[in-house]
Amino acid sequence: MSYEDMKRVVTTFDWSKKARKRLRQTFNVCDSLSEEKDKRFRLWQSLKIVLWENREAVDMGFRKFARQHFNERLDALHYHDKNCNEYCEVCAKLERWNNEGKESRIHKEPLVV
Ligand SMILES: [Zn+2]
Repeated sequence: MSYEDMKRVVTTFDWSKKARKRLRQTFNVCDSLSEEKDKRFRLWQSLKIVLWENREAVDMGFRKFARQHFNERLDALHYHDKNCNEYCEVCAKLERWNNEGKESRIHKEPLVV
């Protein structure tokens, strides 16, 4: 699996805020590396930390979990790319991930009418 695919797959999982922060930092570092294998290695190092949050991954073992579930998710994403005609749950998830970093500094007050 390529780094870019891995990155997309990772964003489709439900992570805690802390894990998302770590992953976001990892993506930034990885994106700046030039070697594909270094990117994958670096991302995997972080995954080995954040996957402790995932009960199933802990029970299965991270490598096995990744091999099985990452491929499944990637297939689902490819299917989505071909078949998504309108804004769906997957689109929302990917967009939320992309926007979160930018919006996190803006403190949102509820609108009082
Ligand atoms: Zn969609």
